[in-house]
Amino acid sequence: MTAPQPPSTLKRPAAKLLSRFRLDDLHDDTIRVFLAKGFSLAICCRECPRLIEWTPADLEQRFGARLDLRIADLAPRLACTGEGGCGSHDIAVFPHGYDGNWSWSPPDHGDD
Ligand SMILES: [Zn+2]
Repeated sequence: MTAPQPPSTLKRPAAKLLSRFRLDDLHDDTIRVFLAKGFSLAICCRECPRLIEWTPADLEQRFGARLDLRIADLAPRLACTGEGGCGSHDIAVFPHGYDGNWSWSPPDHGDD
């Protein structure tokens, strides 16, 4: 049984704001940080209206084995792909507080 996804409050930022997002703003935030804080990763195309939210559950599913992956390293590899995507690599990424319930306990074996 999975809980239904709550409606997300994620909205596309205004163009001016969007143009100001820099990967440097993410500092050294990693997948682990996003999971621990309950952040979604918002992926916003600058070339078309596409806006995608990777919820903490999505992030864990995709990157659960790579918790120390920096978002700033991941982001340049993202493109506006998938259904309706325009293929652009001009993508802004930023954290969005996940709207649903999320709690996460990090795996407690510290092997790195
Ligand atoms: Zn696009």
